[in-house]
Amino acid sequence: MNETGPIFGAMLREFDRAARILKLDPGIWRILTYPKRQIVVSCPVLMDNGEIEVFRGYRVQYNITLGPAKGGIRYHPDVSLDEVTALAAWMTWKCAVAHVPFGGGKGGIVCDPTRMSARELEALTRRYVAEIVDAIGPEKDVPAPDVNTNDQVMAWVMDTYSMHVGHTETAVVTGKPIEMGGSLGRREATGRGVMIVTREAAKHLGLDIKGAKVAVQGFGNVGSVSAELLAGIGAKIVAVTDWKGGVINPAGLDIPKLLAHAAKNKTVDGFPDADPLENDGLWGLDVDVLIPAALENQITMENAPQIKARILTEGANGPTTPDAHNHLHERGVFVIPDILANSGGVTTSYFEWVQDRHGYFWELDEVNMRLEKKMVEAFEDVLETSIKYKVDLRTAAYIVAINRVGMVTKMRGMYA
Ligand code: GLU
Repeated sequence: MNETGPIFGAMLREFDRAARILKLDPGIWRILTYPKRQIVVSCPVLMDNGEIEVFRGYRVQYNITLGPAKGGIRYHPDVSLDEVTALAAWMTWKCAVAHVPFGGGKGGIVCDPTRMSARELEALTRRYVAEIVDAIGPEKDVPAPDVNTNDQVMAWVMDTYSMHVGHTETAVVTGKPIEMGGSLGRREATGRGVMIVTREAAKHLGLDIKGAKVAVQGFGNVGSVSAELLAGIGAKIVAVTDWKGGVINPAGLDIPKLLAHAAKNKTVDGFPDADPLENDGLWGLDVDVLIPAALENQITMENAPQIKARILTEGANGPTTPDAHNHLHERGVFVIPDILANSGGVTTSYFEWVQDRHGYFWELDEVNMRLEKKMVEAFEDVLETSIKYKVDLRTAAYIVAINRVGMVTKMRGMYA
């Protein structure tokens, strides 16, 4: 065993279930349950009040068998080595399910970005990158945005790395501003992927997506784009909640208007053409599709029994606890697991990395067309596997991922 905790433990339970069904070779099994590298750094920062604070940062490269480590960097007070290691493992399986040539990584800094100035955040980002500079790079490990980090943070990552290596290196990070090597469509890609797999699931279940009722938790980058694009194909978004409050309108929320309201007020709360809704009130709604697109551990045995939705699309990473997932699966809820449902982000990160390395940039239509194709393929691979092995989609996604990473591990053989 390795020195992690309950979050990594939850990942291992999901992994072990799929590995058992696959009758995975015990040696390969052992290799795939260890993180390849865990880097821990201390980042001193001169704060605006003149004092020096030291922040703890992590970068975990869980597995690099299929290619460079890939995964975001999150800024949050609850970041831990346990969480970052689990998220890096999930990125490994996500990249394999998405069928992009990357391993899995994740980074995090223990901090509260809501209480830091832009200058402090820039200083912290640059110091963190300087501490891990030898471990990252286009061929080694390619970070991206995650919770509380955005394109501006990625611009600082790219600049700091470039200053150290002595030339501009755009492909060291994805999710950058378009003007400096970012890809068109990257910002919307996770939400677009959520829309695509939800549409495919509805097709599979014989549910008409036109007029289907949808409730969304979270109205950030993932939730808002998912809602907008699902409304665009005729679904009726009846409820949205966020960090502050929520809104419900059984006739369907006007999403363009809600987006404008949220852009102005930083919350959907107080939107005029709807009734207020508590976050707790979201789970039991009479809807066809439920999309948790906020944080981890939102759907638990406390609220899972209330869920009436036919499809649950996991826009966030780890929104459903393992017990709640089993309960929902037994009740026939079609759960589209995070490592499939939100893989549109990393898939388009792959497109960004390819464009940066070619120095040739694609039109938005081309990005979206390629994303559509890859998401549909990934959905079909997982669905076919779930039918073949008679398992839920989460276990099936792990089976697809373990097969791909495990097979290459075996082909490459043992060194030394
Ligand atoms: N942070 C995102 C995720 O969890 C994107 C990672 C990436 O694009 O590398 O999938």
